[in-house]
Amino acid sequence: AAKSLGGNRHCHFLPTMEERIVARRRMVNDLHAALSSDQFFLNYQPIVNLKDGTVSKVEALLRWKHPEQGLISPAHFIPLAEDIGVIGPISNWVAREAISRFAPRCRAEPQQFEVAINVSPVQFRRGTRAIGTLLETIEEFGIPYSSIVVELTEGMLLNLDDTMKKKFAMLQEKGVKLALDDFGTGYSSLSYITKLRFDYLKIDRLFVHELGTDPTRLALCETMVWMAHKLGMKVVAEGIENEVQSRILTDLGADFGQGFLFARPMSFDDASQHIDATNKKAECRASPIALAG
Ligand code: C2E
Ligand code: MG
Ligand code: MG
Ligand code: MG
Repeated sequence: AAKSLGGNRHCHFLPTMEERIVARRRMVNDLHAALSSDQFFLNYQPIVNLKDGTVSKVEALLRWKHPEQGLISPAHFIPLAEDIGVIGPISNWVAREAISRFAPRCRAEPQQFEVAINVSPVQFRRGTRAIGTLLETIEEFGIPYSSIVVELTEGMLLNLDDTMKKKFAMLQEKGVKLALDDFGTGYSSLSYITKLRFDYLKIDRLFVHELGTDPTRLALCETMVWMAHKLGMKVVAEGIENEVQSRILTDLGADFGQGFLFARPMSFDDASQHIDATNKKAECRASPIALAG
């Protein structure tokens, strides 16, 4: 087979079809082993309240430390995990890990602190116990349901049927919040926004990028903020990397910001420290008397 493909091989840097198949097969095997051999861990990225600079949310982001290849991006292995049917157990692990870590803070700051987790459409298909498991985990750690935000992408809403709608309604009845992630990319159609009642709209970083120099992006961000608020949603702007972007989004009325300007995704310990330090600073700014007294 290698021989017949060989004729087309005019670039040394592009892997052949066969090499790609072998690499994929290897990754599939490794992915099966990853969960049982503790190769996954979570990073947490703080989300900042643009009005007062406090941090009352984090997003949990999955990381895979491959024994030979090092860190592999979730953008690479999540689609594969969905294909080969291991996304369910991985997602359950993510929710459990994030909730167990932040449970003390969620209990200490009810109606205040939130942990966002990303979910995949595959895990919510008919017959899976994804939602039941999530609710049980929340109950087990004794945190308010409202401490948890479930982030869905538009792709997830493509095949949303009544069964799935009911499942999400059940989550929301308990108090769990929903965020529409990466808004404006993918299968963008405004009708998706009406399929579920979202608490948050996350503006994709595509629109935040070059916000300061591109009037079209500015107009789109302004429109998205306006629309989200009209529909009763709070806005999170993703991928804020500089002060100009932060200033503009704050002026446009975006509620929350997430991005390298404020904080990168980091370990639980670093995130906890970052949250405490940031909130202390913000408190001092808000009431200078507290500093003196
Ligand atoms: P996402 O949910 O949109 O997460 C935000 C992504 O933007 C993260 O990439 C984060 O590191 C990155 N980011 C944050 N601030 C900035 C910034 O200022 N500049 C730039 N350039 N990037 C920024 P990450 O961690 O590589 O995750 C990629 C995607 O993988 C996530 O996008 C999410 O869709 C998926 N993902 C991550 N963890 C999970 C998980 O536990 N389950 C599922 N199903 N998907 C996950
Ligand atoms: Mg997300
Ligand atoms: Mg996103
Ligand atoms: Mg994304």
